[in-house]
Amino acid sequence: MLLSNHNSLSSLHVTMAGVKALPLKGTIGIPTIGLGTWQSPPGQVRTAVESAIRDAGYRHIDGAWMYGNEKEVGEAIRASGVPREEIFITGKLPSSRHSKAAEALNESLADLGTSYLDLYLIHWPVSLNPYGNDPKVPTRPDGTRDIFEGWTIEQTWKEMVDILATGKVKAIGVSNFSIHFLKKLEKLGGIQPQVNQIEIHPYLPQHDVVEYCQSKGIIVEAYSPLGSTASPILEEPEIVEIAKKHGASSAGVLLSWLLSKDIVVLPKSVTPARIASNITAAKVPLTAEEIKQIDTFSERNNKLKRFGTPPWGVPLGFKDWGFLPDEE
Ligand code: NDP
Repeated sequence: MLLSNHNSLSSLHVTMAGVKALPLKGTIGIPTIGLGTWQSPPGQVRTAVESAIRDAGYRHIDGAWMYGNEKEVGEAIRASGVPREEIFITGKLPSSRHSKAAEALNESLADLGTSYLDLYLIHWPVSLNPYGNDPKVPTRPDGTRDIFEGWTIEQTWKEMVDILATGKVKAIGVSNFSIHFLKKLEKLGGIQPQVNQIEIHPYLPQHDVVEYCQSKGIIVEAYSPLGSTASPILEEPEIVEIAKKHGASSAGVLLSWLLSKDIVVLPKSVTPARIASNITAAKVPLTAEEIKQIDTFSERNNKLKRFGTPPWGVPLGFKDWGFLPDEE
């Protein structure tokens, strides 16, 4: 898929940055490389976002209320000098606020200092008690997460659809949704998620979810595309070997592999040199054979691994929530 934005302005800036955008209904088009901001510490996130936009040419920032840094992200976006309308900003509805989505969104908008988000996602398909002992991650007396019993994901989606109608977000989607959860929303009919943001890298290719989403026209975004903090994937001999062949970096190979499948990548860094290199390195002309090699990496090497494993708890365990490949 090539540049096919809905207006010439976005085409222009995407071309300038050398990053393609995928069409996303209601938006300027989603640039296929976005800067991640999870675990980007106070002080550093400002420099990271500002330099990403101003110096490296990023036009897509992936954030979330849970990351606790939206205020600084907003300040950095303004400081970059690039007009707000040219930047694609994503926010996420936290689990503890599924039943108060409009309020959560308003808070993110106020923190970011913007009147709209380009994309708003349900962060996780799990609702936590909004009246619990912690505004972010409420827990029960036994220390397990305080699941908001009785509140359904269908109700949360209705909140998202209502938000879309206000114009405060240009598009809505989901994150960490398996096929199991996507089907629940499908059964509702009506407006469907336009995006599913999930963990994808060679240890967790999630081929089934990617295929399912793309068959339904849902854009897939890869989080932790480099293998997250202190990633062992960057040192994997097979990846290093492919990188060597192309005179590229491991990071470049991982990002290019995802982009070859029209998967949006969200590499996080607070290091300006890496921020710049990730956007330029993501252009490795991988052969079909190399793509296949990375596709089958985890299976061949018995290295299936998920880095993002919040302890949602028993009996609502990891597998029960459908985060692993579905069995249906
Ligand atoms: P990434 O795969 O982006 O890896 C980030 C780590 O890689 C950081 O430690 C960074 O270090 C380092 N790094 C960045 N570039 C390079 C490079 N070129 N060479 C070597 N190391 C590098 O992991 P994340 O888990 O942060 O995922 C990316 C983004 O996805 C998040 O920031 C967030 O926006 C989103 N996300 C969404 C989730 C969800 O539930 N929806 C969950 C997790 C992430 P340094 O910063 O020190 O340079």
